[in-house]
Amino acid sequence: MEKILVLNSGSTTVKFQLFKMDKGCHEVLAGGMVERIGLSGSKLIVRSAGGNEFSCEYPIENHKAAIKAILDYLSHGFLKNASELSAVGHRMGHGGEYFDRSVIIDDDIMAKIYDTLPLLPLHGPAFVHGVEAASGLLPGVPQVATFDSAFHQSMEKAAFTYAIPREYYAGERIRRYGFHGTSHNYAARCAAKILGYKGRIICCHLGGGASVAAIKGGKSVDTTMGYTPAAGIMMATRAGDMDPYIPLHIMKTQHKTADEVNRMLNKESGLFGLSGGHSDMRDIIANAEKGDENCIFAIEAYVYGLLKTIGAYVAVLGGVDALVFTAGIGENSPLIREKLCARLSYLGLELDKEKNEKRPAPAEINTPSSKVKVLVIPANEELMIAGEAYDLLEELASGESLAV
Ligand code: AMP
Repeated sequence: MEKILVLNSGSTTVKFQLFKMDKGCHEVLAGGMVERIGLSGSKLIVRSAGGNEFSCEYPIENHKAAIKAILDYLSHGFLKNASELSAVGHRMGHGGEYFDRSVIIDDDIMAKIYDTLPLLPLHGPAFVHGVEAASGLLPGVPQVATFDSAFHQSMEKAAFTYAIPREYYAGERIRRYGFHGTSHNYAARCAAKILGYKGRIICCHLGGGASVAAIKGGKSVDTTMGYTPAAGIMMATRAGDMDPYIPLHIMKTQHKTADEVNRMLNKESGLFGLSGGHSDMRDIIANAEKGDENCIFAIEAYVYGLLKTIGAYVAVLGGVDALVFTAGIGENSPLIREKLCARLSYLGLELDKEKNEKRPAPAEINTPSSKVKVLVIPANEELMIAGEAYDLLEELASGESLAV
């Protein structure tokens, strides 16, 4: 039995979950977050497994203070002392081309992590602050990094290469990396358990950020996010793929700066841009039901983008055994699933309407005669990270190679 703390460090937040892990089973002991780090009103919020919630507002000036606050709280009943922790698992954004799996962090790994920072300038530094703070507070406790891009390192060159002059890849490593890898990997593993084999899976991670992955034999073959998480299908506020000349045209004709166009593409586009200011699919569906034309169109365009991507991935995989829905919209919106699946009937895919509405998850929501399984799998990146840390500890104990 190992106690493993999972940390997800953002620029002003640290989310955490404490797991008790054993072979083939796990238990969540506590979870929560520190929010507004370095701002007024910073607070620690904790939920115990029994559902009790506790929150405490006091100045928490940086990530080290945030993680110390979490450890102090956990030392009251969840951990006898910090050394009872077998490992800390960190969610990391970008592993560049260095990492195709989770790793135990040492000096060499840390140097590689620093080297990838330019690839994720907005979110990368916060992940690193989390690692630095936890390593300082917990000397001797293995720190494990799980990278959002690692799962997609199995893509072949034809899938990850952009058709721009070769020197951009040779020099700056500009290529498709893909993200949400921890979620796609988790969903694909759950799907394989339900299918009884690994098969060909198209996984739709539809949250605020959204991506689709084509997965064959448990390995990512292609995915919609690219060099950055701005690429791919339409998201809550991100535009996704478009003619690459559009941003240049807008900069030229409207005299906008790169930062202004970046903001427009990342914060004011996607569902938000099309619906007229709603980024939450629940609001868009509610307004569409009241007849709002913009919201009706936003849903239509969202489903169309998914449909087109899935068609491409069926071709890439040479067929599909399971279509998987995960994350906020994927798990919770029968309407989006129904609209999409209705247009996939050419694959022999049949949605069971009643099961689709009920969604006891993880669930199979296709009819018995459907040629493609349709699965709803709740996202659980934290469990995946804890599992990766547990597996690495097992490998370490058995003396297996941990070479990257
Ligand atoms: P995530 O990023 O995975 O937390 O997903 C968040 C998004 O899921 C929200 O912004 C909503 O758009 C969406 N969502 C959550 N619940 C529902 C629901 N019942 N119906 C439609 N969308 C939902």
